Amino acid sequence: MDYKELANLIFPEAKEISYYEEKYPERNLPEGAIVTRFAPSPTGFVHIGGLYQCEIAKKLADQTKGVFFLRVEDTDQKREVENGISGIIEALKEFGLEPDEGMTNEEESKGEYGPYRQSLRKEIYQAYAKYLIGQGKAYPCFCTEEEGEEIRKKQESAKVRPGYYGVWAKCRNNTVEEMAQKIKNGEKYIIRFKSPGREDRKIKHKDVIKGNVEFPENDQDIVIIKADGLPTYHFAHAVDDHLMKTTHVIRGDEWLSSVPLHLQLFKELGFRAPKYAHIAPIMKNEDGNKRKLSKRKDPEAAVSYYEEEGIPKEAVKEYLLNIANSNFENWRRANPEAKIEDFELQLNKMSVSGALFDMVKLLDVAKTVISRFSAEKVYEESLKWAKKYDKELEEMLQNKEYSLKVLGIERGNKKPRKDISKWSEVKENIEYMYDEIFEAKQQNYPYQVINQKEEIEKILELYIEKYYNENDDKQTWFDKIKSLSEELGYCKDVKEFKANPGMYKAHVGDVSTVLRVALTSRTNTPDMFEIMKILGKERIQKRFERAKNAI
Ligand code: GLU
Repeated sequence: MDYKELANLIFPEAKEISYYEEKYPERNLPEGAIVTRFAPSPTGFVHIGGLYQCEIAKKLADQTKGVFFLRVEDTDQKREVENGISGIIEALKEFGLEPDEGMTNEEESKGEYGPYRQSLRKEIYQAYAKYLIGQGKAYPCFCTEEEGEEIRKKQESAKVRPGYYGVWAKCRNNTVEEMAQKIKNGEKYIIRFKSPGREDRKIKHKDVIKGNVEFPENDQDIVIIKADGLPTYHFAHAVDDHLMKTTHVIRGDEWLSSVPLHLQLFKELGFRAPKYAHIAPIMKNEDGNKRKLSKRKDPEAAVSYYEEEGIPKEAVKEYLLNIANSNFENWRRANPEAKIEDFELQLNKMSVSGALFDMVKLLDVAKTVISRFSAEKVYEESLKWAKKYDKELEEMLQNKEYSLKVLGIERGNKKPRKDISKWSEVKENIEYMYDEIFEAKQQNYPYQVINQKEEIEKILELYIEKYYNENDDKQTWFDKIKSLSEELGYCKDVKEFKANPGMYKAHVGDVSTVLRVALTSRTNTPDMFEIMKILGKERIQKRFERAKNAI
């Protein structure tokens, strides 16, 4: 009996690999095009780090007119959860990171290089395993769990590396006849790779992100096909990324140490190896120590958190690019209006150790991102969020025409308002513009420099009687507040006041504050001229009356 016959005995049905090699031809893409993928396991949780990898992968493919695909790695069926695949697909859609190819729902996919779900590729893996067995590069291993445990214990007491390698790899030395006989006897087995490596030799490798790395060669006879007939991650990675024509494997750096094994697999299978880019995880600063963002400890590790909080996807994506390439910030400063798609991401500029995740910074980015949105977009997005998470806000937004005016204050101009960083802050930011809500609440009016009842009354009364006119433009409106100030003995110019503070009761800014507080019960609001325009005379009067009564 020879290896070929053994291979036939083990996988009688499996096809020749030439069948698959022909079925999946080289992709017809422009020079330099990057083909890459996102390859999650459907465990029901999408980590922000996964989204980060995905965004990077998709961007590189888009930048080079390549292909970005989604491959579901569901060979560990113990870890699977129901609807795990749709959860991933939904998250990618939500963030505008739809793949060009891959799974489109739990069952279906698009693209010519599928199936894109590993559990549906069983016969493909078996064909390649059969090929390796036929070449004497893989073999059936009959060790039971107990035998495995025994080996492990012996290694422990001998203080040597654990694993199935060298002298410890018991089944690798069976003759072909012995193997065939055991199979015929019905003994259970798995398939192992027969590693040609030696631990005392080094391999050098150049990672696109990490640069030059050096590792001992792999000498472990790792499992390639498990007892359930499905492949292990390592084997599936080699077969899939070869057949799907991946040019760049972009993945988490927990896989960096597997590179020696992966290169070996590619070589023994006769495949050209892809480039590897290992991304450092997103880190968090905790009491001065850096640690990975944790699924258990950090709510912001879950992609769902951003939707729940109402942080727009555009902001999350922009922030992640900030983390990915430190030159992004300068680019943004130079191109404040540009779409992030126009930024050219470079893998070799990515941080080698983990980038820090900073929520304050993210919210700051979000403020700027939202400030560039149209009132219509802010309206639609907040309404969508409110429908799910805040009934009161939803109610407020029912009057679309009015809400668009409120949300449109200081928007669409050169220096747009920057007070909203997430949809969950919209209510707080606009509620004083809604009479029912404003009136329902007991307002306390935080007057500042000018705070005596009589003065406040004088300002409010004189303003509405003599100076307010609905038709004034902004300059006239402001000139009138100056005149009002002057008439009541306040300085109409802040600079002048500062030069001669003794000569005046206070200045025009202090008078404005009285108007602002009386109107909104806040010291800080966007442009008061626009607020007054929206409120109109009647409501201004009503609010002044209410303010006077409250003193
Ligand atoms: N399924 C692997 C994971 O979730 C994918 C790693 C890779 O991208 O190759 O970690």
